[in-house]
Amino acid sequence: MENDNCNHPKNSGFTIPTKVSRAAKSDSTIVNIGGVEFGGSAIVIIAGPCAVESREQLFETSRSVKDGGAHVIRGGAFKPRSSPYSFQGMGEEGLKLLREISNETGLPFVTEVMDTRQVEMVAEYADMIQIGSRNMQNFPLLKEAGMCSKPVLLKRGMMATIEEFLLAAEYILYHGNDQVILCERGIRTFETSTRNTLDLSAVPMLKSRTHLPVIVDPSHGTGLRWMVPSMAKAAVAVGADGLIIEVHNHPEEALCDGQQSLNIDEFFRLMTDLKKIAQAIDRNI
Ligand code: PEP
Ligand code: MN
Repeated sequence: MENDNCNHPKNSGFTIPTKVSRAAKSDSTIVNIGGVEFGGSAIVIIAGPCAVESREQLFETSRSVKDGGAHVIRGGAFKPRSSPYSFQGMGEEGLKLLREISNETGLPFVTEVMDTRQVEMVAEYADMIQIGSRNMQNFPLLKEAGMCSKPVLLKRGMMATIEEFLLAAEYILYHGNDQVILCERGIRTFETSTRNTLDLSAVPMLKSRTHLPVIVDPSHGTGLRWMVPSMAKAAVAVGADGLIIEVHNHPEEALCDGQQSLNIDEFFRLMTDLKKIAQAIDRNI
């Protein structure tokens, strides 16, 4: 056993992540989500509402994003809300709806898990589990995700350095799960004109440091619907392996994050533009 004392000189700085590093494995890892591959030459698009709000909202939005060319559905059933008075999500009922529309469309889905006690249950429904920004350093949750049989989408903590982000991913690999996708979703800076500062420089940095796929969330990264397409295009240009985009059939009525959700038409237009950017860098969508 290594000396566990935190004051030990060996443990006074950051350890260099090993399992996640390119030095340990030079080939890029391909993560397969129900038949959809992340980390290869194709750029993968995850789209759907911030939260599952109703059967009609989820089904209409999911069918539309499929028509627009999305490969994976997103939707939160357990929502990490800043206020306890805000809509908290539909819980297991939401997971059932996600499973149903996923089966109908043939698109796999990703959904957030916030609690160690729910990892097993969420993983039974979902094709990939998401650990959100607020839980990036929830070590018991990372450990539980490491012991789970489903791939994990790990979002960067809003105050986390690249080093801390990689070490969080290292926890999941260390506990046995090497199917991890990293997601840059914006960090907190002094800037307040956007919800977060989308750190696109994290993409080439992460791609050089780790073999894991790296995707970008331009929705939480900006908080502004009109800015999402520009940053989504920039993310593809800078080398992201995919995008996760919030789309709502009626954003103005959304119970969560409507101000940053694209409507269906906007999503369709964005997909057309993204294909051109992908082609310009010898990739495809
Ligand atoms: C989300 O994807 O719905 C979400 C809550 O994202 P984040 O954890 O990045 O804030
Ligand atoms: Mn959201």
